[in-house]
Amino acid sequence: MVSISIQSPTFSKSTFLSPATRKTRHVASPSLRVTASRSSFDVVVVGGGIIGLTIARQLLNGSDLSVAVVDKAVPCSGATGAGQGYIWMTHKKPGSDIWDLAMRSHQLWHNLAQSLYDQGLDPQEMLGWKKTGSLLIGKTSQECVALKRKVHELSEAGLRAEYLSGPDLFLKEPAVLVDDDTGAAFLPDDSQLDAHRAVSYIEKGNRAFATEGRYAEFYHEPVTGLIRSDGSSKEVAGVQTLKRNLYGTKATIVAAGCWSGSLMHELLKDCNISVEVPVKPRKGHLLVVENFDSLHLNHGIMEAGYVDHQSASAPGLDVEERMLSISMTATMDTTGNLILGSSREFVGFDTEADETIIRCIWERAAEFLPKLRDLSLEDFVRNRKVRVGLRPYMPDGKPMIGSVPGLQNLYLAAGHEGGGLSMALGTAEMVSDMVLGKPSQVDISAFGVIKELCF
Ligand SMILES: Cc1cc2nc3c(=O)[nH]c(=O)nc-3n(C[C@H](O)[C@H](O)[C@H](O)COP(=O)(O)OP(=O)(O)OC[C@H]3O[C@@H](n4cnc5c(N)ncnc54)[C@H](O)[C@@H]3O)c2cc1C
Repeated sequence: MVSISIQSPTFSKSTFLSPATRKTRHVASPSLRVTASRSSFDVVVVGGGIIGLTIARQLLNGSDLSVAVVDKAVPCSGATGAGQGYIWMTHKKPGSDIWDLAMRSHQLWHNLAQSLYDQGLDPQEMLGWKKTGSLLIGKTSQECVALKRKVHELSEAGLRAEYLSGPDLFLKEPAVLVDDDTGAAFLPDDSQLDAHRAVSYIEKGNRAFATEGRYAEFYHEPVTGLIRSDGSSKEVAGVQTLKRNLYGTKATIVAAGCWSGSLMHELLKDCNISVEVPVKPRKGHLLVVENFDSLHLNHGIMEAGYVDHQSASAPGLDVEERMLSISMTATMDTTGNLILGSSREFVGFDTEADETIIRCIWERAAEFLPKLRDLSLEDFVRNRKVRVGLRPYMPDGKPMIGSVPGLQNLYLAAGHEGGGLSMALGTAEMVSDMVLGKPSQVDISAFGVIKELCF
Protein backbone atom coordinates (compact mmCIF):
# COMPACT_ATOMS: atom_id res chain seq x y z
CA MET A 1 0.00 0.00 0.00
CA VAL A 2 1.51 3.31 -1.06
CA SER A 3 0.47 6.54 0.57
CA ILE A 4 1.19 10.06 -0.54
CA SER A 5 1.50 12.68 2.13
CA ILE A 6 2.80 16.20 2.49
CA GLN A 7 5.60 15.91 4.97
CA SER A 8 8.27 18.14 6.36
CA PRO A 9 10.28 19.82 3.62
CA THR A 10 13.10 18.09 1.80
CA PHE A 11 16.36 19.72 2.75
CA SER A 12 19.14 20.22 0.31
CA LYS A 13 22.46 21.19 1.76
CA SER A 14 23.78 24.48 0.51
CA THR A 15 26.74 26.14 2.05
CA PHE A 16 26.71 29.89 2.46
CA LEU A 17 29.94 31.64 3.27
CA SER A 18 30.68 35.02 4.59
CA PRO A 19 34.25 36.09 5.29
CA ALA A 20 33.45 36.71 8.92
CA THR A 21 31.35 33.68 9.66
CA ARG A 22 31.29 30.42 7.85
CA LYS A 23 27.91 28.85 8.23
CA THR A 24 26.21 25.89 6.73
CA ARG A 25 22.54 26.47 6.16
CA HIS A 26 19.91 24.15 4.88
CA VAL A 27 17.59 25.49 2.26
CA ALA A 28 14.12 24.13 2.54
CA SER A 29 12.08 23.38 -0.51
CA PRO A 30 8.58 22.10 0.10
CA SER A 31 8.13 18.64 -1.31
CA LEU A 32 5.68 15.85 -1.63
CA ARG A 33 7.18 12.86 0.09
CA VAL A 34 6.08 9.47 -1.15
CA THR A 35 6.36 6.69 1.34
CA ALA A 36 5.16 3.12 1.26
CA SER A 37 4.24 0.65 3.93
CA ARG A 38 5.08 -2.20 1.60
CA SER A 39 8.63 -3.38 1.22
CA SER A 40 8.61 -5.35 -2.02
CA PHE A 41 9.10 -3.82 -5.46
CA ASP A 42 10.28 -5.03 -8.83
CA VAL A 43 13.31 -2.74 -8.72
CA VAL A 44 15.20 -1.06 -5.90
CA VAL A 45 17.45 1.88 -6.87
CA VAL A 46 20.11 2.78 -4.31
CA GLY A 47 20.96 6.48 -4.58
CA GLY A 48 18.65 9.37 -5.34
CA GLY A 49 21.10 11.56 -7.26
CA ILE A 50 20.49 12.41 -10.90
CA ILE A 51 21.60 8.92 -11.99
CA GLY A 52 19.33 6.99 -9.60
CA LEU A 53 16.32 9.25 -10.14
CA THR A 54 16.53 9.14 -13.93
CA ILE A 55 16.92 5.34 -13.87
CA ALA A 56 13.72 5.18 -11.79
CA ARG A 57 12.03 7.56 -14.24
CA GLN A 58 13.02 5.50 -17.27
CA LEU A 59 11.75 2.25 -15.71
CA LEU A 60 8.49 3.86 -14.62
CA ASN A 61 7.82 5.41 -18.03
CA GLY A 62 9.13 2.54 -20.12
CA SER A 63 7.70 -0.52 -18.36
CA ASP A 64 5.06 -1.55 -15.86
CA LEU A 65 7.58 -2.35 -13.14
CA SER A 66 7.34 -0.91 -9.64
CA VAL A 67 10.36 1.02 -8.37
CA ALA A 68 11.66 2.12 -4.97
CA VAL A 69 14.39 4.76 -4.61
CA VAL A 70 16.39 4.66 -1.38
CA ASP A 71 18.90 7.32 -0.32
CA LYS A 72 20.99 7.84 2.78
CA ALA A 73 19.97 11.49 2.65
CA VAL A 74 17.94 13.28 -0.05
CA PRO A 75 18.37 14.02 -3.76
CA CYS A 76 20.75 16.92 -4.38
CA SER A 77 22.67 16.16 -1.20
CA GLY A 78 25.37 14.50 -3.34
CA ALA A 79 27.24 15.75 -6.40
CA THR A 80 23.98 16.44 -8.21
CA GLY A 81 23.12 19.40 -6.00
CA ALA A 82 26.38 21.12 -6.92
CA GLY A 83 26.21 20.52 -10.66
CA GLN A 84 26.53 23.59 -12.88
CA GLY A 85 24.26 22.16 -15.56
CA TYR A 86 26.34 22.10 -18.74
CA ILE A 87 24.76 19.77 -21.27
CA TRP A 88 27.70 20.18 -23.63
CA MET A 89 29.51 18.30 -26.36
CA THR A 90 32.19 20.99 -26.95
CA HIS A 91 34.59 19.65 -24.34
CA LYS A 92 34.04 16.00 -25.24
CA LYS A 93 36.12 14.06 -27.72
CA PRO A 94 34.61 12.33 -30.74
CA GLY A 95 35.44 8.63 -30.67
CA SER A 96 36.15 8.54 -26.94
CA ASP A 97 34.48 5.84 -24.82
CA ILE A 98 31.81 8.22 -23.54
CA TRP A 99 31.07 9.94 -26.87
CA ASP A 100 28.10 7.83 -28.01
CA LEU A 101 26.60 7.77 -24.53
CA ALA A 102 26.88 11.56 -24.27
CA MET A 103 25.41 12.06 -27.77
CA ARG A 104 22.47 9.78 -26.99
CA SER A 105 21.93 11.39 -23.60
CA HIS A 106 21.92 14.91 -25.06
CA GLN A 107 19.41 13.81 -27.65
CA LEU A 108 17.19 12.52 -24.85
CA TRP A 109 17.52 15.81 -22.89
CA HIS A 110 16.61 17.76 -26.04
CA ASN A 111 13.65 15.43 -26.65
CA LEU A 112 12.50 15.96 -23.07
CA ALA A 113 12.73 19.75 -23.39
CA GLN A 114 10.87 19.60 -26.71
CA SER A 115 8.15 17.33 -25.30
CA LEU A 116 7.57 19.78 -22.44
CA TYR A 117 7.28 22.56 -24.95
CA ASP A 118 4.86 20.50 -27.05
CA GLN A 119 2.68 19.98 -23.96
CA GLY A 120 2.47 23.74 -23.45
CA LEU A 121 4.95 23.65 -20.56
CA ASP A 122 8.03 25.83 -20.33
CA PRO A 123 11.29 23.79 -20.27
CA GLN A 124 13.02 26.85 -18.84
CA GLU A 125 10.66 26.84 -15.89
CA MET A 126 10.58 23.06 -15.44
CA LEU A 127 14.25 22.17 -16.02
CA GLY A 128 16.05 25.52 -16.06
CA TRP A 129 16.66 24.57 -19.67
CA LYS A 130 18.38 27.08 -21.96
CA LYS A 131 19.78 26.37 -25.40
CA THR A 132 22.52 28.92 -24.98
CA GLY A 133 25.18 27.32 -27.17
CA SER A 134 28.65 26.79 -25.74
CA LEU A 135 31.87 28.77 -25.98
CA LEU A 136 35.12 26.98 -25.14
CA ILE A 137 37.61 29.82 -24.92
CA GLY A 138 41.37 29.77 -25.58
CA LYS A 139 43.71 32.54 -24.50
CA THR A 140 46.96 31.47 -26.14
CA SER A 141 47.88 30.75 -29.74
CA GLN A 142 48.50 27.07 -28.84
CA GLU A 143 45.04 26.77 -27.31
CA CYS A 144 43.50 28.39 -30.38
CA VAL A 145 45.25 25.91 -32.68
CA ALA A 146 43.88 23.07 -30.55
CA LEU A 147 40.40 24.64 -30.63
CA LYS A 148 40.46 24.87 -34.44
CA ARG A 149 41.35 21.17 -34.54
CA LYS A 150 38.55 20.44 -32.08
CA VAL A 151 36.01 22.32 -34.21
CA HIS A 152 37.11 20.27 -37.21
CA GLU A 153 36.72 16.98 -35.27
CA LEU A 154 33.32 17.97 -33.88
CA SER A 155 32.10 18.98 -37.36
CA GLU A 156 33.36 15.68 -38.79
CA ALA A 157 31.39 13.92 -36.04
CA GLY A 158 28.24 15.61 -37.33
CA LEU A 159 27.81 18.52 -34.91
CA ARG A 160 27.32 22.15 -35.84
CA ALA A 161 30.59 23.73 -34.73
CA GLU A 162 32.41 26.92 -35.60
CA TYR A 163 35.75 28.47 -34.70
CA LEU A 164 35.46 32.11 -33.61
CA SER A 165 38.38 34.51 -33.79
CA GLY A 166 38.70 37.17 -31.07
CA PRO A 167 36.54 39.82 -32.82
CA ASP A 168 33.84 37.26 -33.70
CA LEU A 169 33.84 36.00 -30.13
CA PHE A 170 33.46 39.57 -28.87
CA LEU A 171 30.41 40.05 -31.08
CA LYS A 172 28.79 36.91 -29.66
CA GLU A 173 29.81 37.47 -26.04
CA PRO A 174 30.77 41.08 -25.33
CA ALA A 175 31.44 40.37 -21.63
CA VAL A 176 34.53 38.30 -22.53
CA LEU A 177 37.96 39.92 -22.77
CA VAL A 178 39.53 39.26 -26.16
CA ASP A 179 42.94 40.03 -27.58
CA ASP A 180 44.99 38.79 -30.55
CA ASP A 181 45.50 35.36 -28.97
CA THR A 182 41.87 34.75 -28.02
CA GLY A 183 39.57 32.39 -29.89
CA ALA A 184 36.72 29.99 -29.16
CA ALA A 185 35.01 26.81 -30.26
CA PHE A 186 31.31 27.57 -30.60
CA LEU A 187 28.59 24.91 -30.64
CA PRO A 188 25.20 26.59 -31.08
CA ASP A 189 23.23 23.45 -30.12
CA ASP A 190 24.74 22.95 -26.64
CA SER A 191 22.46 23.68 -23.70
CA GLN A 192 22.34 24.04 -19.95
CA LEU A 193 19.89 23.16 -17.21
CA ASP A 194 19.42 23.79 -13.53
CA ALA A 195 20.18 20.64 -11.55
CA HIS A 196 17.76 21.46 -8.73
CA ARG A 197 14.87 22.22 -11.07
CA ALA A 198 15.57 19.15 -13.19
CA VAL A 199 15.64 16.95 -10.08
CA SER A 200 12.36 18.43 -8.84
CA TYR A 201 10.77 17.81 -12.19
CA ILE A 202 11.97 14.19 -12.30
CA GLU A 203 10.92 13.54 -8.69
CA LYS A 204 7.47 14.93 -9.41
CA GLY A 205 7.12 12.72 -12.49
CA ASN A 206 8.21 9.65 -10.53
CA ARG A 207 5.81 10.43 -7.70
CA ALA A 208 2.90 10.46 -10.13
CA PHE A 209 3.32 6.66 -10.28
CA ALA A 210 2.85 6.32 -6.51
CA THR A 211 -0.92 6.44 -6.83
CA GLU A 212 -0.74 3.29 -8.98
CA GLY A 213 1.39 1.65 -6.31
CA ARG A 214 4.37 1.64 -8.65
CA TYR A 215 6.70 4.10 -6.91
CA ALA A 216 7.99 4.84 -3.44
CA GLU A 217 10.99 6.63 -2.00
CA PHE A 218 12.85 6.00 1.21
CA TYR A 219 15.00 8.98 2.12
CA HIS A 220 17.35 9.25 5.10
CA GLU A 221 17.78 5.46 4.98
CA PRO A 222 21.36 4.39 4.34
CA VAL A 223 21.67 1.02 2.64
CA THR A 224 23.82 -1.28 4.71
CA GLY A 225 23.59 -4.76 3.25
CA LEU A 226 22.47 -7.03 0.46
CA ILE A 227 19.65 -9.56 0.65
CA ARG A 228 20.14 -12.76 -1.31
CA SER A 229 17.31 -15.08 -2.29
CA ASP A 230 17.89 -17.95 0.06
CA GLY A 231 20.43 -16.22 2.22
CA SER A 232 23.45 -17.38 0.30
CA SER A 233 22.54 -17.82 -3.37
CA LYS A 234 23.93 -15.72 -6.20
CA GLU A 235 20.54 -14.14 -6.76
CA VAL A 236 20.19 -10.69 -5.21
CA ALA A 237 16.74 -10.07 -3.76
CA GLY A 238 17.11 -6.51 -2.45
CA VAL A 239 18.86 -4.46 0.21
CA GLN A 240 18.86 -3.87 3.93
CA THR A 241 18.63 -0.31 5.08
CA LEU A 242 19.09 0.99 8.61
CA LYS A 243 15.30 0.77 9.00
CA ARG A 244 14.03 -2.17 6.93
CA ASN A 245 14.51 -4.80 4.28
CA LEU A 246 13.59 -3.59 0.79
CA TYR A 247 13.01 -6.28 -1.78
CA GLY A 248 13.66 -5.82 -5.49
CA THR A 249 12.43 -9.00 -7.12
CA LYS A 250 13.77 -8.16 -10.57
CA ALA A 251 16.73 -5.86 -9.98
CA THR A 252 18.74 -3.87 -7.46
CA ILE A 253 20.67 -0.96 -8.95
CA VAL A 254 23.47 0.79 -7.09
CA ALA A 255 23.75 4.43 -8.23
CA ALA A 256 25.44 5.89 -5.18
CA GLY A 257 27.87 8.28 -6.89
CA CYS A 258 31.26 8.57 -5.20
CA TRP A 259 30.09 6.32 -2.34
CA SER A 260 29.52 3.41 -4.72
CA GLY A 261 32.99 1.88 -4.23
CA SER A 262 32.80 1.54 -0.46
CA LEU A 263 29.13 0.60 -0.62
CA MET A 264 29.75 -2.20 -3.14
CA HIS A 265 32.61 -3.45 -0.99
CA GLU A 266 30.26 -3.59 1.99
CA LEU A 267 27.42 -5.18 0.03
CA LEU A 268 29.59 -7.90 -1.48
CA LYS A 269 31.62 -8.79 1.57
CA ASP A 270 29.71 -12.02 2.27
CA CYS A 271 29.31 -13.04 -1.37
CA ASN A 272 32.82 -14.29 -2.13
CA ILE A 273 32.74 -11.87 -5.00
CA SER A 274 34.84 -8.81 -5.38
CA VAL A 275 34.46 -6.19 -8.06
CA GLU A 276 36.78 -3.34 -8.70
CA VAL A 277 34.93 -0.02 -8.37
CA PRO A 278 37.78 2.48 -8.09
CA VAL A 279 35.54 5.54 -7.81
CA LYS A 280 36.97 8.42 -5.76
CA PRO A 281 35.35 11.62 -4.49
CA ARG A 282 36.61 14.63 -6.41
CA LYS A 283 35.53 17.73 -4.56
CA GLY A 284 34.26 20.73 -6.49
CA HIS A 285 33.20 24.27 -5.53
CA LEU A 286 30.84 26.57 -7.40
CA LEU A 287 30.14 30.20 -6.56
CA VAL A 288 26.60 31.45 -7.20
CA VAL A 289 26.08 35.22 -7.24
CA GLU A 290 22.37 35.85 -7.13
CA ASN A 291 20.59 38.43 -9.28
CA PHE A 292 23.81 39.50 -10.91
CA ASP A 293 23.30 42.52 -13.15
CA SER A 294 26.83 43.84 -13.66
CA LEU A 295 27.28 41.75 -16.78
CA HIS A 296 25.21 39.46 -18.95
CA LEU A 297 26.23 36.16 -20.54
CA ASN A 298 24.50 35.08 -23.74
CA HIS A 299 26.16 31.63 -23.70
CA GLY A 300 27.68 29.15 -21.33
CA ILE A 301 31.43 29.72 -21.30
CA MET A 302 34.38 27.60 -20.22
CA GLU A 303 38.14 27.96 -20.56
CA ALA A 304 39.89 25.60 -22.97
CA GLY A 305 42.15 24.38 -20.15
CA TYR A 306 39.12 22.76 -18.48
CA VAL A 307 39.45 19.90 -20.92
CA ASP A 308 42.66 18.76 -19.27
CA HIS A 309 41.58 20.02 -15.85
CA GLN A 310 44.66 22.18 -15.93
CA SER A 311 45.70 24.00 -12.83
CA ALA A 312 45.28 27.75 -12.78
CA SER A 313 46.73 30.09 -10.19
CA ALA A 314 45.94 28.89 -6.70
CA PRO A 315 48.32 30.75 -4.41
CA GLY A 316 48.77 29.46 -0.89
CA LEU A 317 47.23 26.08 -1.55
CA ASP A 318 48.91 22.75 -1.38
CA VAL A 319 48.19 22.07 -5.03
CA GLU A 320 50.32 18.98 -5.51
CA GLU A 321 49.05 16.88 -2.66
CA ARG A 322 45.41 17.66 -3.35
CA MET A 323 45.94 17.78 -7.11
CA LEU A 324 43.95 21.00 -6.99
CA SER A 325 42.93 22.54 -10.27
CA ILE A 326 40.71 25.51 -10.96
CA SER A 327 39.30 26.16 -14.42
CA MET A 328 36.99 28.98 -15.37
CA THR A 329 33.40 28.00 -16.02
CA ALA A 330 30.59 30.56 -16.14
CA THR A 331 26.88 30.31 -16.80
CA MET A 332 23.90 32.50 -16.15
CA ASP A 333 20.82 30.62 -15.03
CA THR A 334 17.22 31.35 -15.95
CA THR A 335 16.74 33.60 -12.92
CA GLY A 336 19.76 35.81 -13.56
CA ASN A 337 22.19 34.19 -11.14
CA LEU A 338 25.81 34.14 -12.26
CA ILE A 339 27.38 30.74 -11.57
CA LEU A 340 31.16 30.55 -11.53
CA GLY A 341 33.29 27.45 -11.23
CA SER A 342 35.03 25.31 -10.68
CA SER A 343 37.59 23.51 -8.60
CA ARG A 344 38.72 19.90 -8.58
CA GLU A 345 40.67 18.28 -5.77
CA PHE A 346 41.09 15.01 -3.94
CA VAL A 347 40.48 15.54 -0.23
CA GLY A 348 38.46 12.46 0.62
CA PHE A 349 34.80 12.92 1.55
CA ASP A 350 35.23 16.40 3.01
CA THR A 351 32.54 18.85 1.83
CA GLU A 352 33.51 21.92 3.85
CA ALA A 353 33.55 25.05 1.69
CA ASP A 354 36.94 26.71 1.42
CA GLU A 355 37.00 30.51 1.10
CA THR A 356 40.49 30.49 -0.47
CA ILE A 357 39.21 28.35 -3.33
CA ILE A 358 36.21 30.63 -3.81
CA ARG A 359 38.57 33.58 -4.12
CA CYS A 360 40.65 31.68 -6.72
CA ILE A 361 37.48 30.88 -8.69
CA TRP A 362 36.48 34.56 -8.65
CA GLU A 363 39.96 35.72 -9.70
CA ARG A 364 40.17 33.16 -12.48
CA ALA A 365 36.77 34.25 -13.80
CA ALA A 366 37.93 37.89 -13.73
CA GLU A 367 40.75 36.99 -16.12
CA PHE A 368 38.06 36.22 -18.71
CA LEU A 369 35.30 38.59 -17.60
CA PRO A 370 37.02 41.96 -16.96
CA LYS A 371 33.91 43.56 -15.48
CA LEU A 372 34.47 41.39 -12.40
CA ARG A 373 37.77 43.22 -11.76
CA ASP A 374 35.80 46.35 -10.87
CA LEU A 375 33.92 44.40 -8.23
CA SER A 376 34.96 42.71 -5.04
CA LEU A 377 33.79 39.39 -3.66
CA GLU A 378 33.01 41.27 -0.45
CA ASP A 379 30.30 43.17 -2.36
CA PHE A 380 28.32 39.94 -2.55
CA VAL A 381 28.37 38.72 1.02
CA ARG A 382 24.60 38.83 1.22
CA ASN A 383 23.69 37.42 -2.15
CA ARG A 384 26.13 34.65 -2.79
CA LYS A 385 26.03 30.92 -2.21
CA VAL A 386 28.71 28.32 -2.41
CA ARG A 387 27.86 24.86 -3.67
CA VAL A 388 30.19 22.00 -2.84
CA GLY A 389 29.87 18.51 -4.26
CA LEU A 390 31.87 15.31 -4.62
CA ARG A 391 32.14 14.24 -8.25
CA PRO A 392 32.33 10.46 -8.68
CA TYR A 393 35.77 10.28 -10.32
CA MET A 394 36.92 7.17 -12.18
CA PRO A 395 40.61 6.85 -13.03
CA ASP A 396 39.88 5.76 -16.62
CA GLY A 397 37.49 8.65 -17.22
CA LYS A 398 34.31 6.68 -17.83
CA PRO A 399 31.46 5.49 -15.63
CA MET A 400 30.77 1.86 -14.78
CA ILE A 401 27.36 0.84 -16.02
CA GLY A 402 26.34 -2.78 -16.07
CA SER A 403 25.43 -5.93 -14.24
CA VAL A 404 27.71 -7.11 -11.47
CA PRO A 405 29.48 -10.28 -12.58
CA GLY A 406 28.91 -13.37 -10.47
CA LEU A 407 25.54 -12.22 -9.11
CA GLN A 408 22.07 -12.09 -10.64
CA ASN A 409 19.88 -9.00 -10.56
CA LEU A 410 22.53 -6.59 -9.26
CA TYR A 411 23.58 -3.59 -11.39
CA LEU A 412 25.91 -0.65 -10.95
CA ALA A 413 25.72 2.83 -12.53
CA ALA A 414 28.32 5.20 -11.10
CA GLY A 415 31.43 7.21 -11.86
CA HIS A 416 30.28 10.00 -14.17
CA GLU A 417 32.69 12.55 -12.63
CA GLY A 418 31.91 15.99 -14.07
CA GLY A 419 29.40 14.75 -16.64
CA GLY A 420 26.64 13.01 -14.69
CA LEU A 421 23.93 15.55 -15.46
CA SER A 422 24.78 15.48 -19.11
CA MET A 423 24.96 11.67 -19.32
CA ALA A 424 22.06 10.88 -16.98
CA LEU A 425 19.25 10.19 -19.45
CA GLY A 426 21.47 8.02 -21.66
CA THR A 427 22.70 6.10 -18.62
CA ALA A 428 19.14 5.62 -17.40
CA GLU A 429 18.05 4.29 -20.77
CA MET A 430 21.03 1.93 -20.85
CA VAL A 431 20.35 0.51 -17.38
CA SER A 432 16.63 0.21 -18.02
CA ASP A 433 17.30 -1.69 -21.29
CA MET A 434 19.60 -4.08 -19.41
CA VAL A 435 16.99 -4.77 -16.73
CA LEU A 436 14.25 -5.25 -19.32
CA GLY A 437 16.44 -7.38 -21.57
CA LYS A 438 16.17 -4.95 -24.49
CA PRO A 439 18.97 -4.19 -26.95
CA SER A 440 20.96 -1.13 -25.97
CA GLN A 441 20.93 2.09 -28.00
CA VAL A 442 24.63 2.57 -27.22
CA ASP A 443 27.51 0.09 -27.18
CA ILE A 444 27.76 -0.95 -23.53
CA SER A 445 31.08 -2.77 -23.75
CA ALA A 446 33.22 0.16 -22.59
CA PHE A 447 31.31 0.52 -19.32
CA GLY A 448 31.25 -3.02 -17.92
CA VAL A 449 31.79 -3.80 -14.25
CA ILE A 450 35.05 -5.66 -13.74
CA LYS A 451 35.34 -8.68 -11.52
CA GLU A 452 38.37 -9.10 -9.33
CA LEU A 453 39.80 -12.49 -8.52
CA CYS A 454 38.01 -13.97 -5.57
CA PHE A 455 38.50 -17.04 -3.43
C1 LIG B 1 31.03 21.64 -8.84
C2 LIG B 1 30.42 20.62 -9.77
C3 LIG B 1 29.97 21.01 -11.03
C4 LIG B 1 29.42 20.08 -11.91
N1 LIG B 1 28.94 20.50 -13.12
C5 LIG B 1 28.39 19.60 -13.97
C6 LIG B 1 27.88 20.03 -15.24
O1 LIG B 1 27.88 21.21 -15.56
N2 LIG B 1 27.37 19.07 -16.08
C7 LIG B 1 27.35 17.76 -15.74
O2 LIG B 1 26.91 16.95 -16.55
N3 LIG B 1 27.81 17.34 -14.54
C8 LIG B 1 28.33 18.22 -13.66
N4 LIG B 1 28.81 17.81 -12.45
C9 LIG B 1 28.87 16.37 -12.18
C10 LIG B 1 27.52 15.84 -11.75
O3 LIG B 1 26.99 16.66 -10.75
C11 LIG B 1 27.74 14.40 -11.25
O4 LIG B 1 28.39 13.62 -12.22
C12 LIG B 1 26.40 13.74 -10.95
O5 LIG B 1 25.64 14.56 -10.10
C13 LIG B 1 26.58 12.37 -10.32
O6 LIG B 1 25.30 11.90 -10.00
P1 LIG B 1 25.11 10.59 -9.13
O7 LIG B 1 23.66 10.36 -9.01
O8 LIG B 1 25.98 9.50 -9.67
O9 LIG B 1 25.76 10.96 -7.70
P2 LIG B 1 25.20 11.82 -6.49
O10 LIG B 1 24.45 13.00 -6.93
O11 LIG B 1 26.36 12.06 -5.58
O12 LIG B 1 24.16 10.87 -5.82
C14 LIG B 1 24.53 9.71 -5.12
C15 LIG B 1 23.47 9.48 -4.04
O13 LIG B 1 23.75 8.23 -3.40
C16 LIG B 1 23.38 8.36 -2.06
N5 LIG B 1 24.05 7.33 -1.26
C17 LIG B 1 25.37 7.18 -1.02
N6 LIG B 1 25.59 6.11 -0.23
C18 LIG B 1 24.37 5.57 0.04
C19 LIG B 1 23.93 4.47 0.84
N7 LIG B 1 24.78 3.69 1.53
N8 LIG B 1 22.61 4.22 0.90
C20 LIG B 1 21.71 4.99 0.21
N9 LIG B 1 22.08 6.05 -0.53
C21 LIG B 1 23.39 6.33 -0.62
C22 LIG B 1 23.84 9.77 -1.70
O14 LIG B 1 23.18 10.27 -0.55
C23 LIG B 1 23.52 10.55 -2.96
O15 LIG B 1 22.26 11.20 -2.89
C24 LIG B 1 29.33 18.72 -11.53
C25 LIG B 1 29.75 18.33 -10.27
C26 LIG B 1 30.28 19.26 -9.38
C27 LIG B 1 30.70 18.83 -8.01
